[in-house]
Amino acid sequence: MLQVPPGVAARALGLECRQWASSTRPLFFGVTLTPASLGGLRDTTGLRAAELRQMQLDRYAGSVLDLSGVELGREASLTAVAAREWMMPTWSRACPLCLKRDGVWPLWWRLGIAAVCPVHRCLLVDVCPRCGVRLLRGSERGPRGLLTREPLPAAGECANRPSHGPKGRAGLCRQVLADIPTTTAPEAWADLQRRVLAVAEGAPARIQGEPVSGADWFAALRYLTALTRLAATGEDVADLPGFVAEAFVEDQRRRTGWPRGGGGTRLTAMPASAAQALAALALTDQVLSSSRTGTAGPLASWIQRATAQRRTVGGADPLRHLPRPAVVAA
Ligand SMILES: [Zn+2]
Ligand SMILES: [Zn+2]
Repeated sequence: MLQVPPGVAARALGLECRQWASSTRPLFFGVTLTPASLGGLRDTTGLRAAELRQMQLDRYAGSVLDLSGVELGREASLTAVAAREWMMPTWSRACPLCLKRDGVWPLWWRLGIAAVCPVHRCLLVDVCPRCGVRLLRGSERGPRGLLTREPLPAAGECANRPSHGPKGRAGLCRQVLADIPTTTAPEAWADLQRRVLAVAEGAPARIQGEPVSGADWFAALRYLTALTRLAATGEDVADLPGFVAEAFVEDQRRRTGWPRGGGGTRLTAMPASAAQALAALALTDQVLSSSRTGTAGPLASWIQRATAQRRTVGGADPLRHLPRPAVVAA
């Protein structure tokens, strides 16, 4: 571990940063590199630009992420993109057992499709059980920058700062992240996560046996997720592990409770937790991996139910703004 405050280290590594009182934050931190940051990092680390880009979320641009709209000269441009895309720009999910093994945070834990650790077959953790704040977020009021002053939090600790806590090191959450309890997930879901990650990393993708691009595959995943939020029922999730079915039903209930909408209730919003992500992956997999086309299967009943709802409630198709995947159009 570096024995200097992380904010100081970031500057020393050549990252272009914005400075606050006692913390600093590299621009587009972890999402992409500005030309100045890329140049600085290349000079200090000797790594090639392509290698450095592999360490940023933009390595997934073109498959699971679409970063169009990000303007490197304007950091505020990230806000709209981050709200649209299934990514966590300022927090992360995590597998405590992986952290216990080597302390490394893989990049994919910050993707909205992150649900299960394929190695340890457990649900990823969203929130620190001790402070109640999402991992690495800092505080719920806003993302924390990197600290530029002593005292440093101990390695492996949560170090979030819950609201109304004391100042200084005493205010930092002392939860050891590797000790957070986990929920076991059956091997089938670890395998599903492995397959989805492979597509995110550029492996060949297929929908109902037909080859498609990674971008089209994830567009279909997102469309179908929106459709299930609209039209899947408890019966559709009955075969999933109990905690997944509960997370799905709870998400639907929350949406009905806020009919006027709001950020988290958009049908296209990123799954708010690892359990919801697993529900999305599992439900959409029934369509994407199926060899069946035509009128049978869950897709047909979801479309029927969504259409029936629209007839009752009236109004336009809530999914009209989404690119309709070929499998649905058929
Ligand atoms: Zn793990
Ligand atoms: Zn904590």
